[in-house]
Amino acid sequence: MNSTKWVYRFQDGSAGMRELLGGKGANLAEMTKVGLPVPPGFTVTTEACRAFYAGGRVLPEGLLDQVAAAMQALEAEKDQKFGDPKQPLLVSVRSGSVTSMPGMMDTILNLGLNDETVQGLAEATNNPRFAYDCYRRLIQMYGNVVLGIESFLFERELHRMKEAFRFAEERDVTVEGWKSLIEQYKKLIVSHARVPFPQNVYEQLEKAIEAVFRSWNNQRAIFYRKVHQIPDDQGTAVNIQAMVFGNMGDDCGTGVLFTRNPSTGEKALFGEFLSNAQGEDIVAGIRTPLPIERLDRELPDVFAQLARTAEQLERHYKDMQDIEFTVEKQKLFILQTRNGKRTAQAAVKIAVQLVQEGILTKEEALQRIEMSHLDQLLHRAIDTSAELDVLASGLPASPGAVTGQAVFDADTAEQWAKAGKRVILVRSETTPEDIHGVLAAEGVLTSRGGMTSHAAVVARGMGKPCVCGCETLRIDGSSFTAGERTVREGDWISIDGATGRVINGVIALKEAEISPELAQLLAWADEVRKLRVLTNADNPEDARKAREFGAEGIGLCRTEHMFFGSDRLPVVQSMILAETAEERAEALAKLLPMQQEDFEGLFRAMDGLPVTIRLLDPPLHEFLPNLEELLQRSIRLSLLEKWGAADGGVSRSTLEALPVAAAQGEDSAVTVAAEKAKLEQWIRKVRSLQEANPMLGQRGCRLGIVFPEIYEMQAEAIFRAAVKCLAEGVRVVPEVMIPLVGHVNELIAMRKLIDRVAGRILGEAESGLAYRVGTMIEVPRAALTASQIALHADFFSFGTNDLTQMTFGYSRDDAEGKFLTHYVEHKLLPHNPFQTIDAEGVGQLIVWATEQGRAAKPDLKAGVCGEHGGDKQSIFFCHKAGLDYVSCSPYRVPLARIAAAQAQLVLGDKERDK
Ligand code: PEP
Ligand code: MG
Repeated sequence: MNSTKWVYRFQDGSAGMRELLGGKGANLAEMTKVGLPVPPGFTVTTEACRAFYAGGRVLPEGLLDQVAAAMQALEAEKDQKFGDPKQPLLVSVRSGSVTSMPGMMDTILNLGLNDETVQGLAEATNNPRFAYDCYRRLIQMYGNVVLGIESFLFERELHRMKEAFRFAEERDVTVEGWKSLIEQYKKLIVSHARVPFPQNVYEQLEKAIEAVFRSWNNQRAIFYRKVHQIPDDQGTAVNIQAMVFGNMGDDCGTGVLFTRNPSTGEKALFGEFLSNAQGEDIVAGIRTPLPIERLDRELPDVFAQLARTAEQLERHYKDMQDIEFTVEKQKLFILQTRNGKRTAQAAVKIAVQLVQEGILTKEEALQRIEMSHLDQLLHRAIDTSAELDVLASGLPASPGAVTGQAVFDADTAEQWAKAGKRVILVRSETTPEDIHGVLAAEGVLTSRGGMTSHAAVVARGMGKPCVCGCETLRIDGSSFTAGERTVREGDWISIDGATGRVINGVIALKEAEISPELAQLLAWADEVRKLRVLTNADNPEDARKAREFGAEGIGLCRTEHMFFGSDRLPVVQSMILAETAEERAEALAKLLPMQQEDFEGLFRAMDGLPVTIRLLDPPLHEFLPNLEELLQRSIRLSLLEKWGAADGGVSRSTLEALPVAAAQGEDSAVTVAAEKAKLEQWIRKVRSLQEANPMLGQRGCRLGIVFPEIYEMQAEAIFRAAVKCLAEGVRVVPEVMIPLVGHVNELIAMRKLIDRVAGRILGEAESGLAYRVGTMIEVPRAALTASQIALHADFFSFGTNDLTQMTFGYSRDDAEGKFLTHYVEHKLLPHNPFQTIDAEGVGQLIVWATEQGRAAKPDLKAGVCGEHGGDKQSIFFCHKAGLDYVSCSPYRVPLARIAAAQAQLVLGDKERDK
């Protein structure tokens, strides 16, 4: 005998039982506990759902008995009876997972109606029209959810009935109309499902519970879980609750209320209300609802009670709430509350407001902030100076501005996005079946539905711009018209989710800025965090942006990025091509002032903060054209030589455009033969530099050791720039970093070189400038021999990109495109180790190297400068490992500051010192 408790009445649960009762069930229980007007009911647990699947999709033993007992208790509470022809009890059956998955699973309302009880309901309410309307809704939902009959078949019958009786709107339908529709629905069910609609109310209930459990594994729910990383084995609970009716007349209705504006964060009730309507009507976006303020005019007492309840719930849950309510004959019922989904902008604003209102502490507010929200806040908006060709305006459902090509169905959106196109999904309304299209699109535009319609909720959750309810658009297949104008599939449009505008063509966007509320949160984060946050930047503009975002210096300047400019590359190439030391010196002498200027720019932008400059790292062939391209040019030149320009298909201007000529500073007098000789020299050089595995070849300090003059030039440029900036009054803190050290002798040799150059330049200037020399730790051997290396390094900067590559033995250029995605999808790896540090493997090397390094040199500074420096989980790891800093790209600096504070709040110092 199975004694598991599968069923909990609302009065027996609490908010803390979310795992077992699902979010909705736990909140209904909590609200019941605090005395809010919640219709009574009970929850079938997520554990029962798991048992249902474990048993081969069969309800577990004992469940139905427990449901029957709970139903009896419900009957007593409501003074009604399930299946009773006089006083019938009706219930709703709703899914409710642990993590909110709006609209992904199924719901059935009005359960308990049959040919007899519908008459009882008609008499008890003295409203037969209402009773038969409820009954037809039940048959449709049951037919769709339990028996799997497509909704459009029911909609078609509804349409036919309306035509036959000449009803313009649903509200015009008479009781005869509904009765006739019910007969048609029953026939539809028999013809499609080969079973009649059950008259036994307990059979209805059993089948409905099974169907909700099954809906956990419908396609859209599976897809949603994948996108939101919700575990597949969580299961859903089922909530069975006495019905209340919003569709009994004009003093009834249903609505959704956010306790603050979920788009902007403004402290004002925000929501929508549909009078004389039932539950699902509002979310389905079929009728456009009225703003909540109208309820104040129409039913002021209900509105006042709703406002008080909203405040009570917000204080209770210490967060902005998304409340579903129904008004039955002027009486308010709360059907659900949950922490409201919100835009990034609203999340930050609300977190700060809640602190100011004394509801949250600063620490709690910081922990509320989601990284994805910060990511979005650093999104772009429409440049206000841009001239806009506005086609139409809808509701501003999810902020951010985007430009893309219009597509009109989810599959096309997905296909086009896969082909690398940027698309905006345009639909009259979206349904959960469209979710893959929403995911693929840059933004969503709908012509129907309100701020809480499916499109709006899903887009906000995904952080995608959305304009909805744009009713002036006429969407027709694969085009829409707005006034006189037509936009067809593939045409470029833009939407502004902050204002609701739909704009013709491509628009100019402006970069993100930090709002006063975000600045406040960041200031609180700075009070808390222990990790410092630096940036990876290699030009003054990025450096300034990063500083604006709070970077405390440059943790990595990849100097090779300075070599790719159109004025630099030819000089770098001639340096590589040089046959003699003199030729190389000549090219380096040209590069020196350019590099010096680069470094001056960085020192000025970072006045007073450290600037860590990494000497040249990539293999030299990266600066030359690839061999294939050169060989092709050579063939064309041979043809030109043989048959002349016309027949060879190569014009003189093409020839002159070849970088070979440019690099050598030749003019148009160049002859084909001379050109060919140069090309051959290139081909020889590229061949000589070719390596079987360049990422493990001649790069990093190996290059500096074999061609010391390159590093000498860079060191000279750094120190000359420092001297110049010092003279201007800039406080310069230079740090020189050696890449790819694997053996201490490499570092010793390179450090000697730098100290020698520093002595020469600084000695001349007698400036007494303090500088540091450190090393990247990105070769596993360097990590393992950290105690030796630390003796010659002032700092360690973990290059976690290379360290991951070399520890796993994965080539990072090949892994992601080939097997890594497969590994992550099939759970061979918990995550992509190039995004989130592999704490168990690569992490061990970091911990070991830091400990050993500090044992040898207690004041050794250590941090991470690989891509992981901007990833929350990796930042938590760095905090635990006791590192001093992380360095990340400028736009991730605010995110890293918050994540570092969260790490301190969650893990504290203890973990860090361990
Ligand atoms: C690293 O390897 O982590 C690193 C920062 O260097 P790069 O990505 O330039 O190789
Ligand atoms: Mg590296």
